[in-house]
Amino acid sequence: MNPMTLTIGLLGEHLENSLSPLIHRNFICYYSLNYCYLPFQIKTENLEKAIFGAKALGIHGLNVTIPFKEKAMGFMDNIDPAAETIGAINTIVRKNEKLYGYNTDWNGFREPLKKKMKTKLINKRAVVLGAGGAARSVIFALAEEGCPVISIFNRSKDRALEVKRNFKNIFPQCEIRTFSFQRKNLQGEIDNVDLLINTTPLGSWYYPGQNPLPEGIKLSSKAIVYDLIYCPDRTPLLSWAEINGNRILNGKEMLVYQAAESFHLWTGLYPDQEIITKILSKIRKKENL
Ligand code: NAP
Repeated sequence: MNPMTLTIGLLGEHLENSLSPLIHRNFICYYSLNYCYLPFQIKTENLEKAIFGAKALGIHGLNVTIPFKEKAMGFMDNIDPAAETIGAINTIVRKNEKLYGYNTDWNGFREPLKKKMKTKLINKRAVVLGAGGAARSVIFALAEEGCPVISIFNRSKDRALEVKRNFKNIFPQCEIRTFSFQRKNLQGEIDNVDLLINTTPLGSWYYPGQNPLPEGIKLSSKAIVYDLIYCPDRTPLLSWAEINGNRILNGKEMLVYQAAESFHLWTGLYPDQEIITKILSKIRKKENL
């Protein structure tokens, strides 16, 4: 580090297990940039002070993670239209003394489908499990890429309805359906689905061994099953789908691609596939240690 080093970092409440420092330090190293990426673990009540403090200190950029993605929007001078529609930011860029908020989760979700699965979303029918912050990024990406029908299943129907209301006017060509988690509804929508996406935490280390799908659900082996959870590598949903013959994707690629997009916003450089692949392999090894 020297007086010209640009600081970027991560704002969140619990950062002990965050992979963002590892990802960004690898990007920085790969391009030999005079940047440093630091985790800033703060209490909720200090969010405003932390953001304005970062602005005053000349911090070049920040990632924002749970539980600040929505709240942080209120402290920006400018918000990117995609982030505005999604209702959350995960990246802040400081330009000319002003703070700009962006959302790169939707991009992070889309890239592995394009690059790894070689799948275009146009005319694909999707089922989304969950209606929280991550689901909003997913639904934005799906609608933006031309999915004609998106069926949302959520524990609380009100939250799903709120998401539908939010996206209906922005994407009038996309039919958004909302359901509560009932086996009968789920089977009906899953029968013709091309892409099934889990955005609930069921199956993560926090809810180990849980599958968001009820037992006995039948899914065509042609569908892609995408679980946003990145730890463990194979959630019960993905293990089940693999046995069923589906192509599967976990949340690790999404995590790295959303970071790549943030890095691009801060540096103007979009990370090479070579470094992205290297980081993914490091993350997998780390998990197996
Ligand atoms: P969130 O805003 O809290 O939303 C959680 C969603 O899951 C809500 O729809 C909630 O339903 C549902 N849910 C929570 N507990 C449930 C339970 N016990 N049974 C049924 N449904 C339940 O969280 P989020 O930010 O969207 O994150 C969701 C998941 O995505 C997390 O596992 C997170 O790690 C993952 N994620 C991954 C990436 C990545 O880069 N791979 C990025 C972002 C998020 P209600 O509305 O009924 O509460």
